[in-house]
Amino acid sequence: IEALKKVDPEAFEALVGETLRQENNLELIASENYVSEAVLEMAGSIFTNKYAEGYPGRRYYGGCEFTDVVERLARERAKELFGADHANVQPHSGSQANMAVYFTVLNPGDKILGMDLSHGGHLTHGHPLSFSGRFFEVASYTVNKETEMIDYDELMETAEREKPKLIIAGASAYPRILDFKKFREIADSVGAYLVVDMAHIAGLVAAGEHPSPVPYADFVTTTTHKTLRGPRGGLILCKEEYKKDLNRNLFPGIQGGPLVHIVAAKAVALKEAMTEEFKEYQRQVKANAKKLANELANRGLRIVSGGTDNHLMLVDVTSIGLTGKEAEKALDKAGITVNKNTIPFDKNKPLIASGIRIGTPAVTTRGMKEKEMEEVAEYIVDALKHTEDDEFLAKIKEKVISLTDRFPMGYKKIVGID
Ligand code: PLP
Repeated sequence: IEALKKVDPEAFEALVGETLRQENNLELIASENYVSEAVLEMAGSIFTNKYAEGYPGRRYYGGCEFTDVVERLARERAKELFGADHANVQPHSGSQANMAVYFTVLNPGDKILGMDLSHGGHLTHGHPLSFSGRFFEVASYTVNKETEMIDYDELMETAEREKPKLIIAGASAYPRILDFKKFREIADSVGAYLVVDMAHIAGLVAAGEHPSPVPYADFVTTTTHKTLRGPRGGLILCKEEYKKDLNRNLFPGIQGGPLVHIVAAKAVALKEAMTEEFKEYQRQVKANAKKLANELANRGLRIVSGGTDNHLMLVDVTSIGLTGKEAEKALDKAGITVNKNTIPFDKNKPLIASGIRIGTPAVTTRGMKEKEMEEVAEYIVDALKHTEDDEFLAKIKEKVISLTDRFPMGYKKIVGID
C-alpha cells in the first residue's frame, strides 16, 4: 500500500477512512458483505491489466491463456454450484445481467411483469428511469395488503390481465421465501418467459438455504457481491438452448471487454461457496436474521410481514413514530449502517420512506451469532428512541465499536494502521 500512499495521499486517506468505517461500524445493509482475503487479493490483482473481448477459446485479443483459465474456472464452478446448463460470468453488475437477458428474449416495446419497487422489487424490474422501464412496457405486481407477502392467486390474475412476454421474480427487499414453482406455473399459463433475479439470495440458494430457481427459470441472474460474498459483479445462468443468444447479447450486445480481475475473483468466491463452511455461514445468516427480527419485535418494532425467512427484514419505523430517513440518520450517528426503505403501501415518498431494511450477511461474516443479535437489537432500539440526542448516540457508538472490536476483519493491517 506504500505506493498508493505516496502517489495519491488524498485517495489513500479516503481508503483509510473507509477501512476504519468498515472495521468499526455495524454493517447491516442487506446487500453488502465482507469478501475473504483470497477474493480481495484476486480482485486487486494484475488481471486488471488484461483485455479479453470474447469468450474462452474465442478471444479478440492475444495473451488470453491465463484469462481463459480463470474464466473457465468461474463458469464451471457456477454451473456446478447451482446445477445450471450454462453460466456467463462476465456481467459487470446485476443490472447488466438483467439487461442482457431482456435483450436476449425481448424486443423494445414488449411487456415485462416485475415486482413493484416500493414492494421490494429492483429498479431493473421496470422502474421508469431504468433501461427496463424505458425500453419495455411495464406491469407490476405487489404484495398482499394484509399478509405483506406475495399472493400467487393475485399474481396469476395480474399476469392473465397484463399478458406479459416475460415475468421477473426476485427482489431487493422481500423477507420471505419465493415460490419459483408457482412463478413457473403462472408464466406457463400466459406463455411468458420466467427470469429469476436471485441477487439477494444467491448465497442462500448456493447453500440450499432457499429453494433454487434453476429448475424452473429460463434465466437466472444474480449479483456476486451480496449473500454470495464475491466481488462486485453479475452472473447469468440459463438453459442450454439460450446459451449462444445470451452470450452474444452480453458481449458484444451491451458490454465490451470483461473485467478479468473480477471474473477471476468470482472464480475464487464460487470455490469458497462450495465448502461446508459456507453452508454453515448461510445457516447462521438466516438464524441471525430470525433472532434479530424477534428481538426487535420484542422491543416494540413492527416487522413487515411479521418476520423473515431469509437474510433480511423490513422494519416499519412509523411503529415508533419515525420515518425511515430519521431512523437511518440516527443509526448512522450510532455507528450502525442500514438503509431507509419503503414498505408495502408506503405513505411516504422513497427518499423519506417508512421503513429501514436490515440484513445479517456482513455481521455474520464477522462471526457474530444469536447472542450478539440481542446486543445489536438493543443498540438499534436505543438509538431509535434517542434520535435527537447526539451525546446518547455517541455513547451507543462506543458500545458498537467495542462489539465490532471483538469480531475484527483484519483490514487495518492492510492499510498499515494496526
Ligand atoms: N437485482 C436485485 C434484486 C438487486 O437487489 C440489485 C442490487 O441491489 C441488482 C439487481 C443490481 O445489481 P447492481 O447494483 O450490481 O447493478
